[in-house]
Amino acid sequence: MKRVAVLGGGIGGTEAARALRKEGLEVVLISNRDYLWTYPISIWIPTGEITPEKVKISLHDFAKAWGIELIVDEVVEIKASENKVVLKNRGEFTDFDYLVVALGQTKKPEKGLKYTLSICGSPEEAVEIRKRLQELISKGSGKIAFGFGGNPKDKTAVRGGPVFEVLFNVDYYLNKLGVRQNFELTFFAPMPKPGERLGEKALKMLDELFQKYGIKKITGKKIKEFTPNGVIFEDDSFLEADLILYTPAGWGHPVVRNSDLPTNEAGFIKIEDTCQVQGFDNVYAIGDCAAIESPLWTAKQGHLAEFMGHIAAHDIALKEGLKSGTPKSYKEHINILCLMDMGWRGGGLAYRSDKRAMLIPIPVLGHIMKKAWGLYFKLYKLGKIPKVI
Ligand SMILES: Cc1cc2nc3c(=O)[nH]c(=O)nc-3n(C[C@H](O)[C@H](O)[C@H](O)COP(=O)(O)OP(=O)(O)OC[C@H]3O[C@@H](n4cnc5c(N)ncnc54)[C@H](O)[C@@H]3O)c2cc1C
Repeated sequence: MKRVAVLGGGIGGTEAARALRKEGLEVVLISNRDYLWTYPISIWIPTGEITPEKVKISLHDFAKAWGIELIVDEVVEIKASENKVVLKNRGEFTDFDYLVVALGQTKKPEKGLKYTLSICGSPEEAVEIRKRLQELISKGSGKIAFGFGGNPKDKTAVRGGPVFEVLFNVDYYLNKLGVRQNFELTFFAPMPKPGERLGEKALKMLDELFQKYGIKKITGKKIKEFTPNGVIFEDDSFLEADLILYTPAGWGHPVVRNSDLPTNEAGFIKIEDTCQVQGFDNVYAIGDCAAIESPLWTAKQGHLAEFMGHIAAHDIALKEGLKSGTPKSYKEHINILCLMDMGWRGGGLAYRSDKRAMLIPIPVLGHIMKKAWGLYFKLYKLGKIPKVI
């Protein structure tokens, strides 16, 4: 039986591993953490609605459920042309026939980023946001700035949704505590119409929500740098903030940069429609670490990462003669689908494809649906229920 090494036990890597097992291949999953971090539900950590432990899914349990070998180690280098991966503790690793790279992405460097925190960073960073928010609440008042950045070198690597989710959840939380009037919440972004990729209706709805909840907005101004107490924009105007929650654009993973894989200008791996890395027959890249060729409104997303895992597994199974058929393309599944959460007020179901852009408000139930999704995700990852969508 041919052996596939999957690098990265995140949303895409675990799905590729599951799909490969279902195709009848042997899988070794190599990840630096022994858990899968369910990013979409981590948005509730800052307000304490969920604990970090509930956001984790044990990769030991995952590996046991799917008959996968798990290696918890850090990948430091990929030498694809030598069929080699270098691990921090184990050193060189060559025991594989195929490689699936699913290492995710990192933050685009920006001046003063160390003064900001992001919900899209490490699990420790999400916990730190909670701590800093609690400190401000104990102090009695504060100014909080929420923003995200753009990436001119790869427009798919922009993550705005979770920033809006944390903003609306924090607003709701402060209201619930009866202290909202003591806090100034400001949203900022360099693009003139942040959220635009979800369509004009969504933009209008976001504006209405900002007005309704008294959230200030600074958009269309490039960010010069972050300081310990605020944001300096290109025109030297200054947004004072006690806490800056900023999600920079995505950027190629350092390990990918330290590899012989072909990348685009932002450091994402160039792939074929089948997710095979360009020029490497036995190497695939899926999820956030891959360069997505797509319409301008596309964003890197979890459900696309999962779909890419299936496309790659299908292709490897075809190459190994484990099934008949034709190669599939990840491009068949390019859309934006997310449930944008706003706390117990509800949420909005956002959908964008070439044909349609919509944001449907779902009061209260939207929040419950996102919670139910978190449970569904955990159960299908652990093989306890089938995956239906
Ligand atoms: C806060 C937030 C909310 C989101 N909400 C949604 C949503 O509602 N819907 C949606 O579709 N998408 C959502 N996304 C996007 C989605 O989470 C990502 O697109 C998805 O996680 C990408 O999957 P991935 O496997 O490519 O990367 P990741 O899930 O980031 O996984 C990468 C894995 O690689 C491991 N790794 C990294 N470096 C190394 C190394 N050197 N050695 C070994 N292992 C390593 C990491 O530990 C991690 O397990 C959200 C993202 C965030 C941050």
